[in-house]
Amino acid sequence: MPYAYDPQNIFARILRGEIPNKTVLETEHTLAFHDIAPQAPLHVLVIPKGAYVNHAHFARDASAEELVDFNRAVARICTDLGLGDDPDNFRVISNAGVHGGQEVPHYHLHLVAGRPLGRMLE
Ligand code: C5P
Repeated sequence: MPYAYDPQNIFARILRGEIPNKTVLETEHTLAFHDIAPQAPLHVLVIPKGAYVNHAHFARDASAEELVDFNRAVARICTDLGLGDDPDNFRVISNAGVHGGQEVPHYHLHLVAGRPLGRMLE
């Protein structure tokens, strides 16, 4: 089962309200909150509310409504934070699996900005 989902992962617990978070935006299918250990002046995590492990899983199995909601949430955060006017000034990245450096096995997109980011996060 390549996409076995662990319902006890920390983001699932955040979604159930068991662990607090600093919410940036919440929509019907998406939650965005500040990363607890920011790697840049702005470091927001955007997660779907559905149980998806990584980007491939989400892109494959999420409904069209969830996919649109998620991507529009990213766009809204960029607009709200003034990032959307200058496409050079932010980065989105999603780690997957052991080789991808994923720590939390609930799909999430890192939105980072506020400093020169170089060519890669790491
Ligand atoms: O992509 P990866 O799985 O490594 O990223 C997980 C991210 O979740 C880390 O940037 C970490 O700081 C963040 N995190 C968080 N709140 C927690 C646990 C982890 O923001 N309670």
